[in-house]
Amino acid sequence: AAAPTDPEAVVKKYLVEVKGTPADEDCIICMEKLASPSGYSDACECRTIKPEMVGRLTNCQHSFHMLCVLAMYSNGNKDGSLQCPSCKTIYGEKTGTQPKGKMEVSTFPQSLPGHRDCGTIQIVYHISRGIQGPEHPNPGMPYTARGFPRYCYLPDNDKGRKVLELLKVAWNRRLIFTVGTSNTTGESNTVVWNEIHHKTEMDTNLSGHGYPDPNYLDNVLAELAAQGVTEDCLRK
Ligand code: NAD
Ligand code: ZN
Ligand code: ZN
Repeated sequence: AAAPTDPEAVVKKYLVEVKGTPADEDCIICMEKLASPSGYSDACECRTIKPEMVGRLTNCQHSFHMLCVLAMYSNGNKDGSLQCPSCKTIYGEKTGTQPKGKMEVSTFPQSLPGHRDCGTIQIVYHISRGIQGPEHPNPGMPYTARGFPRYCYLPDNDKGRKVLELLKVAWNRRLIFTVGTSNTTGESNTVVWNEIHHKTEMDTNLSGHGYPDPNYLDNVLAELAAQGVTEDCLRK
């Protein structure tokens, strides 16, 4: 059997080939008509997926040239998952490029502004500088890790504990940090937060990343869901 990350196998797992495509519909990956061959015909050598083949994603039903999806997948970190470029639905388990490190959790009785009826969960992320791997923007080059350990806070109530469990899933899938350019400092080749916001201040809010913030837990649940991390992940 083909390895789960074999690019052609991944494309065929999540797309069903469709015939008789409407002539005027575009493939949003290559911007060519679906009725014409894939714009990636020359860039992609593939024995089993032909440039004129069109496929439909199994859940969201969006259609693309199958060769275009293959090119998109091959250009990513090839973790066996696909994300629909149209509606962002995730197929399989999305993983990121967070460098190696450690996530530590503890609790203390002091409460957070806006959550006066419970104690606090503290998460500490440790990541050290290192050398970029093939999944990073500049493989072989060093990356820096500024401001670590980074301390983050959640209310120690039911919703906060649920967020914590989902953050652990996100950490294990390497989704919390990435290597890139910092918006705050402009430094490149450095470890930065990815798309999941954390509260790094508890009793001040000088950075805007503190408490009180009545919408925070719902917002971070939505950000986790956008990365494919939902309550379903906790039931398995
Ligand atoms: P970034 O500036 O590239 O931003 C990425 C995401 O992190 C954005 O969504 C942003 O809203 C969020 N973010 C920005 N500042 C944050 C903060 N203080 N707490 C929580 N989230 C924050 O991300 P980055 O380069 O990882 O830097 C973010 C923060 O990391 C800085 O503001 C700073 O607190 C810390 N940092 C410290 C040093 C240091 O030398 N002590 C150096 C770099 C960054
Ligand atoms: Zn296409
Ligand atoms: Zn879709």
